[in-house]
Amino acid sequence: MAKKSNSSNHCSFCGRSENEVTLLIAGISGHICDMCAEQAHEIVNETFKSSEKSPLDISLHTLPKPKQIKEFLDQYVIGQDTAKRFLSVSVYNHYKRILQKNIKDDVEIEKSNIIMVGATGTGKTLLARTIAKMLQVPFTIVDATVLTEAGYVGEDIESILTRLLQVADYDVASAERGIVFIDEIDKIARKSDNPSITRDVSGEGVQQGLLKLLEGSVVNVPPQGGRKHPEQRMIAVNTKNILFVCGGAFDGIEKKIAQRLNTRVVGYAASNDTARVDRANLMKYITPMDLKAFGLIPEIIGRLPILTYLNPLDREALIRILTEPKNSIIKQYEKLFDMDGIALTFDKNVYEYIVDKAIEYKLGARGLRSIVEAIMIDAMFLLPSENNKKKLHITLDYAVEHLEKSDFAKLKVA
Ligand code: ADP
Repeated sequence: MAKKSNSSNHCSFCGRSENEVTLLIAGISGHICDMCAEQAHEIVNETFKSSEKSPLDISLHTLPKPKQIKEFLDQYVIGQDTAKRFLSVSVYNHYKRILQKNIKDDVEIEKSNIIMVGATGTGKTLLARTIAKMLQVPFTIVDATVLTEAGYVGEDIESILTRLLQVADYDVASAERGIVFIDEIDKIARKSDNPSITRDVSGEGVQQGLLKLLEGSVVNVPPQGGRKHPEQRMIAVNTKNILFVCGGAFDGIEKKIAQRLNTRVVGYAASNDTARVDRANLMKYITPMDLKAFGLIPEIIGRLPILTYLNPLDREALIRILTEPKNSIIKQYEKLFDMDGIALTFDKNVYEYIVDKAIEYKLGARGLRSIVEAIMIDAMFLLPSENNKKKLHITLDYAVEHLEKSDFAKLKVA
């Protein structure tokens, strides 16, 4: 049985003498100090946590099928059918790959990371957040803008996995089959199509680092937070089965697509092709070549084999976004008033007015909420104190009057 040592001894682990530590515990043929005992305790805890079997509570039969996954996405995200289909299939295949271990077969399914390209505010992050709701694997969203090459101000590439470990509650096995959404991947594109001559701290260097993660390798991840000792112990995470979904606006990529389409259609089959090109939505013609022209290195593009796009949102889509999703903005306001016992209703042309203002002010889907807020603020301030008010109907006149008297006009983009 261990007892407190009373002779001048040393810790068998760190070598500190009895005078240098608060407590030195004696064993049969050695000693341990309080600090080493504490550290050992943490190591034991972490090791047990990561080796604990955390079986996926799902089987090949109960697996949500791509169609089901898409139907789920449809409840929250309007349109974007192509991206939804790709995402659903990809997540489905990700599950199958994870479950593959249990099946006796030597055909190894490789993972297919995805890249989604679409203007800002078209629903990329929303798609990612929505799919996260139905996933049974750890999921995290990270922003590529904060990433820089190791040693520079910013976050190291490995920090992407720290987040995943945190959501997996440091269960390494579980994190190793998680999904990471890397937002704003276009921000790490290199600034020109030519390999850089000068140091490109947030561009090519970061892409090289990211490549390591996408390829599937064992990465040492700093657990971050909650560690008292400077000799931080890294956690080894194998990224082989982690699915990476990347998203980016790739501002200006349409020009590259147009250039490519033009050069191509100048050739002998020109006439028909030119006629068929949908100039209003060039994004749907995106190919890996355009990503390269934008500044992603070919190796990264090769590791993101599924390339899909999001459509720009037109007036009709914006009206649907306002009212249709399960937690649409209008439904949220109805709920807020309902909690005060007030039935909130709108004239249909109010929706059109809101959307027209969002388009006029160049705010897109993101602006819808602030416009509704500006219209509703007076009612939300006054009505809860009026006990006998049971109904509120918003007419076009009411909406126009309240929006115009609000500070909203200041937001107008010249
Ligand atoms: P992105 O990541 O493409 O820049 P977001 O997904 O963050 O855009 O979209 C911003 C907001 O706009 C969302 O939170 C959502 O309210 C709304 N929105 C955008 N696109 C859609 C869509 N297709 N369906 C429903 N809501 C949308």
